[in-house]
Amino acid sequence: MRPAQAHKIRAVRGEGAAVPRSLLVAHANQLLTLRGPRGPRSREAASNLEIIEDGAVYIEGDRIADLGTSQEILQRHPRAATTLDASGKVVLPGLVDAHTHTIFAGSREREVEWKAQGLSYAEIAARGGGILHTVRATREASEADLVRIALERLLTFVSFGTTTVEIKSGYGLRTADELKMLRAAAEAGRTAGVDVVPTFLGAHAVPPEFEGRSDAYVDLLLNESLQAVAVGQAASFCDVFVDEGYFTADQGRRLLGKASALGLRPKVHADELSDTGGASLSADVRAVSADHLLHANDAGVEAMAAAGVIATLLPATSLASRMPFADGRRLLAAGVPVALGTDFNPNCWCESMQLVVALACHHNGLLPAQAITAATINAAWAVGRGDDVGSLERGKLADLVVLDAPTYHHLGYRLGGDLAEAVIKRGRIRKGRTLTH
Ligand SMILES: [Zn+2]
Repeated sequence: MRPAQAHKIRAVRGEGAAVPRSLLVAHANQLLTLRGPRGPRSREAASNLEIIEDGAVYIEGDRIADLGTSQEILQRHPRAATTLDASGKVVLPGLVDAHTHTIFAGSREREVEWKAQGLSYAEIAARGGGILHTVRATREASEADLVRIALERLLTFVSFGTTTVEIKSGYGLRTADELKMLRAAAEAGRTAGVDVVPTFLGAHAVPPEFEGRSDAYVDLLLNESLQAVAVGQAASFCDVFVDEGYFTADQGRRLLGKASALGLRPKVHADELSDTGGASLSADVRAVSADHLLHANDAGVEAMAAAGVIATLLPATSLASRMPFADGRRLLAAGVPVALGTDFNPNCWCESMQLVVALACHHNGLLPAQAITAATINAAWAVGRGDDVGSLERGKLADLVVLDAPTYHHLGYRLGGDLAEAVIKRGRIRKGRTLTH
């Protein structure tokens, strides 16, 4: 919590125990509901935020009980344990971060100097940086250390308005350490009061002990790790880094086929560094999402649209790695729903989906409304949580952000600040003035 901002949110009424743990957020200048047909949005639907002017949301417990204009809602629910006045502000669904690597030990701040000196990803790896540096540190860390580290990070995510976070493994690269990461992600989420969606990314890189023998490592994943993750119900998704120098589309196909058979839904790190067929693979294996997509070819994009694969774009990584930005307009025009994520990882230390929305508007060609759709309802579907979060509708989780801005356009406009004046997660005020309810 930031004391400097705490005074801005005003509780206009606290009427005690009229309804236990009820919360009314009223008089929002713009209430962005994003309500609509079930499923992710593309084409024209991606620009429709379903805005209610002078809107209000009435919450009971951890769910949205009612919403509409302030006049309607105050008439139907004249009393609430706590009321927040959102006059002059924007209220929208809690942001969903659809792609992160939040669990890791150590940090790689030295690499900023190397990047500034023009060293490539491969040259940085040759100096002992990159993924394998983080793998060493994460293998050495205890599970309790990883939970503690991730908890701090998740609380920062929340302060920026993110209320659901996907977290991948992928810095253990051997079964026991991958499971350690997935357990730490789940525990950190419980402790932080954030919904965490765990993804198994054993195929993030070839570990040093398998150098030059990627097929042997894939066999280990196929014959041991995937089974262990599925049996322990440690993850909802399985992801594979399909790219030059990592895993081939064929290896990805084998891994994701087995993962699907074990009940883990597929995701793909696709066409980030070069076009190696990741987009087409994602369609072939009916992946929930293909992520990055800087170099996706036309056939792959068309196949994604036909198969209903969501494109998760990660502009902060393009910024941090000085790479091109994926073409969001092209994807939406082709009928591919676009989601967003921070890609928080040791190479791209970004906790703010607000910055990601602004980058998507400035560099991925998304309109502010499309970027907000991508950071809420589409991101929710990209992590399999679209029935519970991502829009403001009766019965959904009461995850809301109050922005200190008069219109939603400010979210696409302002770079690197923090507009989240209040954050409500499952009906509880997590940022803003502390109110008992
Ligand atoms: Zn990633």
